[in-house]
Amino acid sequence: MIRDRTLRTREKLVDKLTVTGALLRASLLERTVRHKSGCPKCARGEGHQVHVLTVSYAGGRVRQISVRRERVAEVRRLLDNYQKLKDAIEAICELNHQLLRPDTVVPRGGRKKRD
Ligand SMILES: [Zn+2]
Repeated sequence: MIRDRTLRTREKLVDKLTVTGALLRASLLERTVRHKSGCPKCARGEGHQVHVLTVSYAGGRVRQISVRRERVAEVRRLLDNYQKLKDAIEAICELNHQLLRPDTVVPRGGRKKRD
């Protein structure tokens, strides 16, 4: 049964979920900061690499948080956790959409054709 298969797929997704508080919804960007004067490094044109987290909110508001170099790896791990959890939640919701339409025949290995 398609319904049983969908439920099994959903169960597998739920089993794989890692529930953790180590989550971050943001983008990590690398920027170069250049001092106008008094810095030999910038005078040579090198500048300083800095990491900035940008978090977008509804309505287009964006918050920026600078991240120290020694915390970049940790931040990347939190971002990765968030992305994995979000992907799993999206996949589960897609399956639930299917379960809400029990009469709909979903062909094996494919999506339902649009009418
Ligand atoms: Zn500088």
